Amino acid sequence: MELWFTEKHTENVKFSIQVDKQIYSSQSEFQRIDIFESPEFGRFLTLDGYMMLTEKDEFIYHEMMVHVPMAVHPNVKKVLVIGGGDGGTVRELIRYPFIEEIDLVEIDEEVVDACIRYLPQTACSFQDKRVKCFYEDGLKYIRKYENVYDLILVDSTDPFGPGEGLFTKEFYGNCFKALKEDGIMVNQHESPFYKEDAYAMQRAHKRIVESFPISKVYQAHIPTYPSGHWLFGFASKKYHPIEDQRAEEWKSLNLKTRYYNEQLHAGAFALPNYVEEMLEHVE
Ligand code: SAM
Repeated sequence: MELWFTEKHTENVKFSIQVDKQIYSSQSEFQRIDIFESPEFGRFLTLDGYMMLTEKDEFIYHEMMVHVPMAVHPNVKKVLVIGGGDGGTVRELIRYPFIEEIDLVEIDEEVVDACIRYLPQTACSFQDKRVKCFYEDGLKYIRKYENVYDLILVDSTDPFGPGEGLFTKEFYGNCFKALKEDGIMVNQHESPFYKEDAYAMQRAHKRIVESFPISKVYQAHIPTYPSGHWLFGFASKKYHPIEDQRAEEWKSLNLKTRYYNEQLHAGAFALPNYVEEMLEHVE
């Protein structure tokens, strides 16, 4: 007998992974949470049937979300992660000894509990003394803060369900306000390839451009996300992602990474023409 997990990437495209067994399944107050074990990708987490991460390719997403802004901002002390209940983003952040505080705002405590239990590869750093978890809606949390954070990482689900509010103009405006005068925000920015993802990507980009003076987009290859071509947004009050890259300083930290490196940093901002056109269209 064969067991397969299938996600519809469009009305006409399905992506399937063979599964050995289902390890966890629960309907939380916010979403359905499932964790599977697979021969090709190891364990993987889905929310409402959408792929969040697999053990095999999560390093790409988490390294690109964290190390790109960390190699630009010269003095990150206080970081806010919105979403990210699997812990992968926090795992990469705690590698920087000079970060003093990491606040994680996750709407669904059950995601964190399930990942601590069944996905220790990512959920391995919540016990670090610098990490504080807040179980609330990121959209509401961010309203209360002004001039507090050096870096905000929006590690959210897609723009429907509980994640919808994290793609709004109000949210990006409040992130701008919550950042210090040289703060940076990085967000998962959807994909340019399939029509619906591309529409969400353009809409998010338009709203971020309206909120931040510097707004660039960079890319990574993430095999288990729709089309495999995924984007991140780099929105900043002061620092330019390439002109202000501190390659030597970052290298001297001696962090071992599997995807990110100093050359790839600039290369990731070199986008295909069709993506540039989509972005220009809404700028
Ligand atoms: N890497 C992933 C991706 O792009 O598919 C994101 C993974 S992470 C598991 C996303 C998390 O965002 C989920 O655990 C979800 O519960 C959380 N989330 C969704 N909406 C949220 C909100 N409004 N406030 C805080 N967390 C939220």
